[in-house]
Amino acid sequence: MLKELNTNQLLDIAHSPITKNDCEQCASLSCQGWESLPSGFDAEKLRLLGTLRIERAEECWDEHHPNGTNQWSSDAPISPKHYPYNRSDVFECASCKRKFLRYTEYGGYYLDERIRELNPKFITNI
Ligand SMILES: [Zn+2]
Repeated sequence: MLKELNTNQLLDIAHSPITKNDCEQCASLSCQGWESLPSGFDAEKLRLLGTLRIERAEECWDEHHPNGTNQWSSDAPISPKHYPYNRSDVFECASCKRKFLRYTEYGGYYLDERIRELNPKFITNI
């Protein structure tokens, strides 16, 4: 079963060190803020660690932007209780252990796989 992660566990994951710099496997992922997963990227290079989707949690579509950021901001807070983080899974690069969040945006006629690097300094427990 997919492991449900709380904020402390997410912080632990985010703080765990990467094992090498200039990783070729994930170099094409430049995603300080949310970006669409590059179409040529092989998602098999990412290993699933757990999820922020909590089974019995109340549904929440609100975003958390106390400082005037928006969903696309590279410095937007990562608040596990808020959208889209509460729809996200947590991954690491199988090669260098860089951490990422991913979720799927469901538009009317499209799916968009999105990815954001998991930077511990933006994680907030609100
Ligand atoms: Zn990597």
